[in-house]
Amino acid sequence: MSFRVSFQVLCSIICPLIPAVTAHFHAYVETPNWLATNGSTFHAPENQTPMPALVIDTFQNPTHNDLGFWHGPGEDLPVQHEPGFIRLFPTDPDQNFHTQFNIHGCFSLIPWQKQLLHVVFEGNEEFTVSLNEHNTECYPQRSPFPGTPDSVQASRYVMRTQILSGDDEKSSNDTGTDTNTHAPNTITRRNARRQAQRVPSNDTREDDGDNEQNSASPEKTELFIPLSHFHINHNRVVSVSFSGFYTNVSLTLRRVEIVSAIPPPSPNNNKFIIPEKAPSGKLILRCSRPNSFAFGIDDGQPQYAQEVMRILDEEGVKVTFFAVGAGLRDPTTNFTNFYREMMKKGHQVALHSNTHPKMEALPTLQDIDEEVVRTIQTFHDELNLTSRYFRPPFGTVGARMREALASRIKDPYIVNWSVDVEDWLWGNTSTPEHQLDAFYRSVARGGNLAVMHFLNPSTVGYLPQFIRHIKSAGFKIMRIDQCLEDPNSPPL
Ligand SMILES: [Zn+2]
Repeated sequence: MSFRVSFQVLCSIICPLIPAVTAHFHAYVETPNWLATNGSTFHAPENQTPMPALVIDTFQNPTHNDLGFWHGPGEDLPVQHEPGFIRLFPTDPDQNFHTQFNIHGCFSLIPWQKQLLHVVFEGNEEFTVSLNEHNTECYPQRSPFPGTPDSVQASRYVMRTQILSGDDEKSSNDTGTDTNTHAPNTITRRNARRQAQRVPSNDTREDDGDNEQNSASPEKTELFIPLSHFHINHNRVVSVSFSGFYTNVSLTLRRVEIVSAIPPPSPNNNKFIIPEKAPSGKLILRCSRPNSFAFGIDDGQPQYAQEVMRILDEEGVKVTFFAVGAGLRDPTTNFTNFYREMMKKGHQVALHSNTHPKMEALPTLQDIDEEVVRTIQTFHDELNLTSRYFRPPFGTVGARMREALASRIKDPYIVNWSVDVEDWLWGNTSTPEHQLDAFYRSVARGGNLAVMHFLNPSTVGYLPQFIRHIKSAGFKIMRIDQCLEDPNSPPL
């Protein structure tokens, strides 16, 4: 199913070791909205002083950023660090790199909310940039941590600037950044690609980016992303992250910061303008209705379906099923009849892709779109059902998948979880009871939206215990649309 806990695990180990050195960041006062946001030109009115740039990370240190807090990879992403840059060698869209704010409270980006995230980088341009929200308690030991993100596709925001002789310092000053750390950016595009495609090994890790510097017109690659394009609560930000890789090209990060302006469009930067925010849906990790709890049950083996139905009937609870389109079309599964029956009983049935791939890993947008379109069509044909609720296979979320979904479904709910029974890990082992431990642990940390499957008898066998544990804790179990207070959900 998914292996999405490493940031939390890593951070719970590493973060306490990082010195908290930024007490002065708590003293922000809300500033007037001094920044015009018309189209692509972000310029402060002359009579007001912009907030100074907030330098988040210049990658001087292997384990912490310029704010004094942790940065590092998740999901076994190989990295190469040298003072001044970190190079990522991704092979999977779930791999990620976070650089974080002060997570031991809620960090507010409100003073900068009209400004832009600025990233200086080389190499891979096909990845997701996320701004991650803290959980409601602003406490990293509570679930989910991180809270929910919003994401954009980096390639839409890339500004390429030709470096003319003597212009490097000028263009850097335009963004209010420190030019000294930009010296390596006079790397050629061709050289960046060549370097990006290298596989790390002990004898190929030197930064030889200047070797072909004079062989082509030098270019600097940067992202300028308005913070307003990240629809999260800017009062409690936890990190900036990079993920959603679907090529093996490496990515070298040199600087992450928040700046007040971008250079104006010019022939040198190919008249770069900021794109419109692409709709990206709402990523859901927990229920919002007070005292609610929801089970999202995915996939399944047909032979366990009747047992699941019997347990839910006996316990008198309603759940949400996420069904795969291809399974509905396969008459040997009998899933169409099963889900029709569950809908009649009042359960929610929702989308879980057409063929269950890691959608963000698919090579083209058309491939992702086809997964969305075919599952919508199958739900219509087999169940006479339209749904705005979608659970990504393996929990893999990236900007391309979100944008493809949001282009076909208005305001989709992309539903992951804050309680994982870890049936993918323990279901078929000699210690299946660890599923109970995982469930109790997640609930104790504040999770209230579960993921599980009916793929093996042990998980189905524990379902009554999961349900009774939640009931005895005083929660009311309901469908996911109900626990999210969706006005279109059936009354409780
Ligand atoms: Zn699944």
